[in-house]
Parts: sequence; structure tokens; C-alpha cells
Amino acid sequence: MMLQARVTTVGVIGCGTAGAAAALLLSRGGCKVTVFERVADPMPVGAGIIVQPSGQAVLARLGLLEGIVAKGARLDRLFLRTPRGKTIVDLHYASVDPRWFGIGIHRGVLFEALYEAARAEVTVKTGCAVRGLRRDGARTFVRADEEHGPFDLIVIADGAVSELRTGTGKTTRDRAYPWGALWFVAEDRQAVFTRELHQVAAGAQRLYGVLPTGLAPRGDVPVISLFWSLAAHELEAWRAGGLDAWKAEVRAIDPRIAFVLDGIRSHEQVVFARYRDVQMARWHDGPIVFIGDAAHATSPQLGQGANLALVDACVLADAIARARSVEAGLVSYAAARRQHLRHYQTMARLLTPFFQSDSRVLGRLRDWVFPIANALPPLRNFMVSTMAGMSRGFGREHLALPPTP
Ligand SMILES: Cc1cc2nc3c(=O)[nH]c(=O)nc-3n(C[C@H](O)[C@H](O)[C@H](O)COP(=O)(O)OP(=O)(O)OC[C@H]3O[C@@H](n4cnc5c(N)ncnc54)[C@H](O)[C@@H]3O)c2cc1C
Repeated sequence: MMLQARVTTVGVIGCGTAGAAAALLLSRGGCKVTVFERVADPMPVGAGIIVQPSGQAVLARLGLLEGIVAKGARLDRLFLRTPRGKTIVDLHYASVDPRWFGIGIHRGVLFEALYEAARAEVTVKTGCAVRGLRRDGARTFVRADEEHGPFDLIVIADGAVSELRTGTGKTTRDRAYPWGALWFVAEDRQAVFTRELHQVAAGAQRLYGVLPTGLAPRGDVPVISLFWSLAAHELEAWRAGGLDAWKAEVRAIDPRIAFVLDGIRSHEQVVFARYRDVQMARWHDGPIVFIGDAAHATSPQLGQGANLALVDACVLADAIARARSVEAGLVSYAAARRQHLRHYQTMARLLTPFFQSDSRVLGRLRDWVFPIANALPPLRNFMVSTMAGMSRGFGREHLALPPTP
């Protein structure tokens, strides 16, 4: 049922995962959409991410899943061990649902798929940094170098460091995590790393991981992402130190990574990424709504950022299509997203210190408790469902997936 009595024009701020997906789905629902993207010539940058079953369902609805599966790397499990080889968790997607699997992919591949589709179907204004909004009754104008609009609905999807969130008075938490991660994207022509996200945790201070990500953006060579957890205050010391000592530490944890480390000759080749923890008291205000990282950025510990953004976009488009007014649509959007997002924000906050903190106790506790949880079917199923992006909390129904057309 498509009522849309009042929604005709939509302004979307940001053309990342959330913005591009929302623009496409709202446009296909009958809205006239304009996207404003700050970057003049957006490129397929970033490192590896995982498209979980939750995000896959939205990509299927968009008609983009096949291309992503073709370019990505199928993941059957998440395997986490100690440096001595003790299994901490070994989570198989298929143990809960035989249809589930993860797709390791370079963020740039997902970005390009969404961006190209958005450019083909809606107006995308690049090089257009939005500085604010102007409300005039039910109409809202977008302020960049010039004013655009009016719009009936504004979707703010400008990422974790959202400038438009500042000043809304609705942000209840916005802080950078004290820990981040070093990332390095490397070719893996021999396909040494396949089928799993492989992680090694030494206490809560060291976390190493390798994510197979399929083909490079615009390339035909398999690539992987190597990540290495680091506290922000350790970064200068890491940069000042020689690479050899660090490489030896990484190699000792997983000797298979030696060929990747051989390709790192300067600190500049390795990117340090930091993450934010963002919480808003309300995601919407009148005809304005925040989605994706702008609304609820979390640590990447659960690998959900892009997936939550995709689900937001889908639920929003459906809520607007069904509602009699923009405001009613946004109220129903917020109600539909609350439980799923609350679960992932809570879990990310609870789990992150077990993997990235100065605590000696939490690392030991994790190595002792997590294997027990992994062995108990109800807890293991809960962990797998959470990994898959499908959980709404322990004992609750899974996320209802959007029907594929
Ligand atoms: C360049 C880049 C690289 C990334 N690399 C990784 C990675 O390697 N691994 C990972 O897990 N996650 C990465 N992320 C984050 C990941 O894409 C998001 O967590 C997830 O996809 C949610 O997407 P989002 O659309 O909410 O936010 P984002 O993907 O951050 O998109 C926000 C978009 O809004 C635009 N924007 C910001 N401010 C304005 C403004 N004022 N006016 C107009 N446009 C604006 C930005 O340029 C960006 O295109 C990266 C994000 C970016 C922007």
C-alpha cells in the first residue's frame, strides 16, 4: 500500500551506505529524492567490512546482492583464539540457519554498487557540503553554498562525525573510543585466507584479525584486510618504533601472514581508524530523521555498521510508504528500529572492553567464560544470531527481513 499523500520531496544528506540505500528505496517508493554529498568525486576507499545476512536482505531488495556476492568472499564462520591456540569462540553461521553466511567485502565495492545505482536513479549533488537546515513550517531547506529545497522529508546520513547532529540537543552520547585499529589491505593471490574471519586475542590489549574480502574495487585480484588493535595513545610510539619489531609480533601470532607483512615497508601504508560511540535520545524531529552511523555509530567489534545502516534505510522507506504523514512515518520508523538498534549498541558497549581495553582481568575472564558460552547451544545460537545481524536480544524473535521482490 503506497499512500504517500504528503511525501513527495526528500533531501538526503550523505551518500554513504545509509544515504545511498535510503535514497534508492525512497525513490522506488515514489518519492522525488535529491542526495547531497560533501565529497566532490567519491572514490571506493576504506578496508574490509562484512555484509551480514541482515544487510544481504536489503541488498537483495535493492537488486544489488548478486554483484556483491560475486565480488565478495563467502564467510562461513568467525574463529577467535588465543595466541597459544585455545579456541575462544568458533561461531558458524549455518549452525542457526543453513541459509546464513557472511560476505567479506572491501568497503569500496559496496560503496560503488550503491553509489552507481543511486546516481542512475536519483539526483546526486556531489561536492555539496551541507552546513545546516532551515525550517519554514512543514517545509525544510538544505543549506550548503546555496540553499536547496524545499523538502518534505530530510534524511541525515552524514556518518559518525555528523556535523548536523551537533546542536540538535538530541545526542546523549558522542565519544571516540580510546582504542582503534591499524588496517592494511593486501593482495592474497594464493587465497591463503578464505571462508572465515580469523582473529587472535592476546589479553584485551592485542587483537589481530584477517578478513578475506574478495576482489579489490575495480580489480580482479583477491584482497584481504589485516587489522591490529591499538590504543590511540599508543599510535605515536608505534609510528616512532621500527616496523620489524611489530611485524615479528604479528608473525608470531599467525605465521601465515608473513607474505602480507613483507609488503609493508612504511608506517604510512597502514591506516589507523578510530571509532565513535553515538547515542541519540530521539532519531527524528518533525520531518527530519537521522539514520546510519550519524544516529548510532558503534565500535566495529560486532561488524555491523554497514548492515545497521542498510536495515535503517529499508525500514525507513517502508515506514514512509505506509504512513499518512511524514511525522507518522518517522514515529513508526523509530518504533520499528528501537529494539534491534538497542541490542547492538548495548552489546557493542558491553563487549568492546573485553577486546580493546587496558584491563588485565577482562581478557582473562573472556578466555575463560566465552568458550563455556560457545559450548552451550542457547548462548552459542544467541552469539551467532548477533554476529549475523539478526538478533533483537536474547530470547527475542529475530529481525524480520524485508521481502525480496
Ligand atoms: C571514507 C570512508 C571510509 C570508511 N572505511 C571503512 C572501513 O574500512 N571499514 C568499516 O568498517 N567502516 C568504514 N567506514 C564506515 C562505514 O562505511 C560506515 O560505518 C557504515 O557503512 C555506515 O554508513 P553511513 O552511511 O552511516 O556513514 P558513512 O559511510 O560514513 O557515510 C557518510 C557520508 O556522508 C558524507 N557527509 C558527511 N558530512 C556531510 C555533509 N555535511 N554534507 C554532505 N555529505 C556529508 C560523507 O562524505 C560520507 O559519504 C568508512 C566510512 C567512510 C566515509
